[in-house]
Amino acid sequence: MIKFLDLNAQYHGIKEAMDTAIFDVIENAAFIGGEKVREFETAFAHYCNGNYCVGVGNGTDAIEIALEAADLPSGSEVIVPGNTFIACAEAVTRTNHRVRFADVDPGTYTINAETIEPHINEKTGAILAVHLYGHSCDMDPIMDLAGQHHLAVIEDCAQAHGAEYKGRKVGSIGHFGTFSFYPGKNLGAYGDAGAIIVQDETQANKLRKIANHGRSSKFNHEFEGRNSRLDALQSAVLSVKLQYLEQWTRRRIEIAEQYVSGLAHIPDCILPVREQWSRHVYHLFVIRVKNRDGLKSFLYEKGIQTGIHYPVSLAKLEAYRYLGHAEADTVYNRTDSQLLSLPMGEHLTDGNVQYVIDSIKAYFAQSPSG
Ligand SMILES: *Cc1c(COP(=O)(O)O)cnc(C)c1O
Repeated sequence: MIKFLDLNAQYHGIKEAMDTAIFDVIENAAFIGGEKVREFETAFAHYCNGNYCVGVGNGTDAIEIALEAADLPSGSEVIVPGNTFIACAEAVTRTNHRVRFADVDPGTYTINAETIEPHINEKTGAILAVHLYGHSCDMDPIMDLAGQHHLAVIEDCAQAHGAEYKGRKVGSIGHFGTFSFYPGKNLGAYGDAGAIIVQDETQANKLRKIANHGRSSKFNHEFEGRNSRLDALQSAVLSVKLQYLEQWTRRRIEIAEQYVSGLAHIPDCILPVREQWSRHVYHLFVIRVKNRDGLKSFLYEKGIQTGIHYPVSLAKLEAYRYLGHAEADTVYNRTDSQLLSLPMGEHLTDGNVQYVIDSIKAYFAQSPSG
């Protein structure tokens, strides 16, 4: 069986360092806050070329807390891609704002200045630039547009740890960079965890207070915040894994290159586009085929696990029917039934990748139009 993701194999490759780091936290009994958390935050800020990293409970909270710190008038509209994980839109509604879906580029599946602009009006407060699948949004035109209209830009980097835009790390370009360390992400904890990257100290302190009961010291609460903290166990796990992230990312890129050259000549198998200014970190390698479910079950029969991200566009979900965009003629509504995520990660051997390529070729040989 070729697994879509193999966290167990990853653990066994780093078991000694991981066990030591985890038992250290338990031995020292400092579970919330403390040195391990600071250590990871410092290392991760450095990795992202950011000045400050504020650890939070998960990637959804990271977006919510960033939106809260952005201080938009209640009821502002926030522009969100129509094809992302629901967390992005949930965070908008949960902070008392309104979701506005923008369409995406059919090659990279990310929003850009052209798809965002038609949605800007006097109520618009922010743009959530999601670097979906590990490919950066085209940030310069987005930042220009945001500057003209005084909008906050939150980069959702939940799928893009270490991705770059014109040589700059994502998360350090917009006003806030939010990260998820959900176990299956490129940098994953052993539970829920997240972080926010910012450049400015005042903003970092504000985020930290929002995430920790509005606290400025143990019993001094300046305002009502909430509880969403990165804990010491997850920080220790993340610090160990961060040392391998570049190596694992380079392997993802190699695998993607192998997929691209192996699948290049199948006209009905649409490959993901990598813009030349993007360092794509391939959280997911997503192809598009007409009979997605046919290919998925064919590969399953061959012992290959695949995924679907996401089976239904946000606009079509029951939760967002009220916005009336379920029928809109958009890339996100047209492509959701065609997306298929191939196995990806450092657990795959070259032989595994070749087997996936050969199996996809075999599928198209028997049903040429996909
Ligand atoms: C995973 C993910 C999130 C949410 O992160 P959690 O840590 O699961 O809350 C947000 N946005 C995107 C694009 C994601 O992939």
